[in-house]
Amino acid sequence: SASSKRMGTLAEDLPAIEPEDDIAQFAEYRRLKTTMQQLEMTGCSNPYFTVHDGIVRDTTVVDGKEYISFASYNYLGMSGHPRVTDAAAKAVRQYGTSVSASRLVSGEKPIHGKLEKAIADWIGVDDSVLMVGGHATNETTIGYLVGAGDLILHDSLAHNSIVQGALLSGARRRPFPHNNFNALDRMLTELRSQYRRVLIVIEGVYSMDGDFANVPEFVTVKRKHRAMLMVDEAHSFGTMGETGRGMAEHYHMDARDVDIWMGTLSKSGASCGGYIAGSCELVELLKYTAPGFVFSVGMPPAQVAAALAAIETLADEPERVRRLHQRSELFLSLCRQAGLDTGDSEGTPVVPVITGNSMVALRLSNRLKADGINVQPILYPAVDESAARLRFFITCEHSEEQIRFTVKRTAEHLAELGFARPTQPAV
Ligand code: PMP
Repeated sequence: SASSKRMGTLAEDLPAIEPEDDIAQFAEYRRLKTTMQQLEMTGCSNPYFTVHDGIVRDTTVVDGKEYISFASYNYLGMSGHPRVTDAAAKAVRQYGTSVSASRLVSGEKPIHGKLEKAIADWIGVDDSVLMVGGHATNETTIGYLVGAGDLILHDSLAHNSIVQGALLSGARRRPFPHNNFNALDRMLTELRSQYRRVLIVIEGVYSMDGDFANVPEFVTVKRKHRAMLMVDEAHSFGTMGETGRGMAEHYHMDARDVDIWMGTLSKSGASCGGYIAGSCELVELLKYTAPGFVFSVGMPPAQVAAALAAIETLADEPERVRRLHQRSELFLSLCRQAGLDTGDSEGTPVVPVITGNSMVALRLSNRLKADGINVQPILYPAVDESAARLRFFITCEHSEEQIRFTVKRTAEHLAELGFARPTQPAV
């Protein structure tokens, strides 16, 4: 018949698919190898997968040598704090190293609920739920709460876990210009009526640039358009607000004005895993139905106990947060005085020094290493070439002396590498 003839013609016109079954030949793998070869050709040591022996606090030990460390998220020095270590060890003795099941079935331990209540109280909302990975928390929550027919609007600098969650959800996804709640407002005016649910996702502190979101302004926008607002506090939990309660405390706002607070316990929490905190209804829904919670093992006892002890310790030692703020501000103001480009960083514990050139960033990190300073370069393609940088994470354990030495050496090396800017007055 005519139709079968047409179908036959179509099939013949289709380009043949070249089968690919050798991972070593994947374009992705070959690209990776090219990047690695380019890195090797610079003569600089590979900055990835450095092996650190022992606990990383203000210092770290690599190959038997001690370095001042600016490359880990132990913002409050809780990883390695004796009280946190003891709590984790005790939990292992009491409950074992795994809960060996989803909590929904038989993995529930008393400390799960205790930590969930402590997190909710700490932030100032009804309840929270723990998940085994920070990245997985965003993926599963965003991936599950919205879907086809819904819209996700996220900050253009949103973390990979937010983007992955959005892709998983099947909702339409559009980034809005970084931190720009007015642009978001305009997008919602145009788009809101076409979608059932709209989820806005922002971060508290942005981990590449060290700036932060004006959360109350985003609350106003989300209310106006009847959207839901989710705030990722991976880097603001424990670091922002007078006592480390995060963005709600920083802005003296009612935490209940945000629909979904997300955080990771791998930074200030001295553990790993993530949480979603908010209304009882949100938490109940996720605990009974979110795939990444229901079909995944419960958080291991040591990790739960460590995070719980970190929060309790933080409540007892609020001077840690004050010291973190003071050290972060010192680092930033010294950088500015030295004419270094710190981008949009605004006194959070994340301070980039932008070189605008991957080679310079790599050389600079190598030179600092020779001075006994460990800091991670962020190179193209992780960021645009013009945004290549070193990224410094400050902890409350850093001494003023360590900070002064580091900024001084950074500025001196950059000047020698020909990338210094004229000295500016402190801002
Ligand atoms: N959200 C943000 C903003 C992050 O920076 C990170 C990791 N650095 C995550 C989520 C994922 O958290 P985790 O590393 O604890 O899985």
